[in-house]
Amino acid sequence: MRKQIAAANWKMNLTYQQAEQLLDGILQEKVAPGPDQQVLFAVPFPYLVLAKSEVDEEQGYAIAAQNCSDKVNGAYTGETSVEMLQSVGIRYCVLGHSERREYFSESNELLARKIDLCLEYGIQPLFCCGEALQVRESGQEAAYVQKQLEDSLFHLDDEQIRSVIIAYEPIWAIGTGKTASAQQAQDMHAHIRSVLAQKWGKDTADSISILYGGSVKANNAAELFTCPDVDGGLVGGASLVAQDFVEIIKALKS
Ligand code: PEP
Repeated sequence: MRKQIAAANWKMNLTYQQAEQLLDGILQEKVAPGPDQQVLFAVPFPYLVLAKSEVDEEQGYAIAAQNCSDKVNGAYTGETSVEMLQSVGIRYCVLGHSERREYFSESNELLARKIDLCLEYGIQPLFCCGEALQVRESGQEAAYVQKQLEDSLFHLDDEQIRSVIIAYEPIWAIGTGKTASAQQAQDMHAHIRSVLAQKWGKDTADSISILYGGSVKANNAAELFTCPDVDGGLVGGASLVAQDFVEIIKALKS
């Protein structure tokens, strides 16, 4: 079975002390992910090393960066390179979150470069895609998401695409408390998988984890994760509350 993943996205939240407390609160629940399950924490850059040292001994738990530079190294003040992430042992990186696309003008083409760099340095990209409300209301969501995949991922070969995790995050559901219905999520995930299958074949498409993101909560995770093409979730708000995120981990398919 492809990996079932609960990924926490802390965004720009929590002080160092709060971050430590949250992680401790989750780890002390001793939820043991199965062999086909993975828990990720996408934490702010200053906490990567601390968080990694906390989960290093825990089977099935790992730390992700929330972003990386599209440059290799050099005079780019304020940027963080994939080489830096690799050097502190980070093996996952969220890319193309809608907040990066909207507030930092990240394009599909820029994201293609970041994807390449991550893969070159052995970091698995967690690639986010998803449409705005206007796009959904005009019935264009399938074509819109397909173009995001084509522009940022279609240059990859079979081995490379197998290292990518995809997160479908309808923008109208992020941080709004308005979750996509299980049917809406399943329909889009099945579409994404069929796009992957057309390009790389069914076996490859079936091996890729596609997470749903957008107001996943402790009380709706199980219904969403039960959908055949939903392989877990990328979770913002609810990942900041230890008990809620623990319930979300427990809702993963096993
Ligand atoms: C996210 O940050 O990717 C997200 C889905 O946030 P929330 O769960 O708060 O909607």
